Amino acid sequence: MVRSDFHMHSSFCDGADSPEDMVKEALKYGLVSMGFSGHMDPPVGVPMDIGKYKAEIRRLKEKYKGQIDIFLGGEVDCLFEGGDTDDLEYRIGSTHTLRMPDGKMFSVDDTEEVLKKFSEEYYGGDYYALARDYYETEAKIIDRVHPDLIGHFDLVLRFNDSLHFIDEDDPRYLKPALQTMEYLAKADVPFEINCGAVNRGRKKDFYPGKRLLNALHGFGGRIVLSSDAHDKEHILASFREAAEAATDAGFKEAWVLKRDSGGQPVWESEALSC
Ligand SMILES: [Zn+2]
Ligand SMILES: [Zn+2]
Repeated sequence: MVRSDFHMHSSFCDGADSPEDMVKEALKYGLVSMGFSGHMDPPVGVPMDIGKYKAEIRRLKEKYKGQIDIFLGGEVDCLFEGGDTDDLEYRIGSTHTLRMPDGKMFSVDDTEEVLKKFSEEYYGGDYYALARDYYETEAKIIDRVHPDLIGHFDLVLRFNDSLHFIDEDDPRYLKPALQTMEYLAKADVPFEINCGAVNRGRKKDFYPGKRLLNALHGFGGRIVLSSDAHDKEHILASFREAAEAATDAGFKEAWVLKRDSGGQPVWESEALSC
């Protein structure tokens, strides 16, 4: 069982708990390592104080050395432009935001109303065109973010369980999704199986869901289990189910961050035994 979780949010961004409270909880759960991935987004929400965030995570990394290995990361949106991400120990590259030709931006996981509004105003209500645009943006994440991990692939389906705006068998959705997935997998960046939406009761299946997870295995992709916890109670949540989903898709191992002899983060594999 994986005892490491690298996608979590604290009160520095939109999480409920302080980073130190999350570390204390992680120790209770027996985690061997954990990573904070504060949101680094384009200016559509309240920006995180990146300097203070980095300082606090570095303080905790020192304070808890020997008990748990803490990594300083960030969840960097594909359209993020401000702030320095070079000294993060790892970057989760996540596409939430799309930019319209007139410069307006919206997040596909904001609210149903926002999604409907932008779909109608800019795509004539054609969600397949919106999804195609989403995957064109997602394909740029390697060049823009230089990610160590692909965050919640397929977030464009955030509201599909309730709105059913996309038929998940329709090639107008599936083809761009699979093309982008193959391109990212061939770049050899691992994908997370993100448990956040399942944990928060927002969706039935993980990002990516069963069909895309099977495809990812076929493309030779690698996976990382992550909770996307926004409070301390959800650290490691649904990892058992995510490991089962991965095993069903044919994966034998998950990847976790370790450190090389110089202390630099490196991905290493662990058996996916449940
Ligand atoms: Zn995200
Ligand atoms: Zn997140």
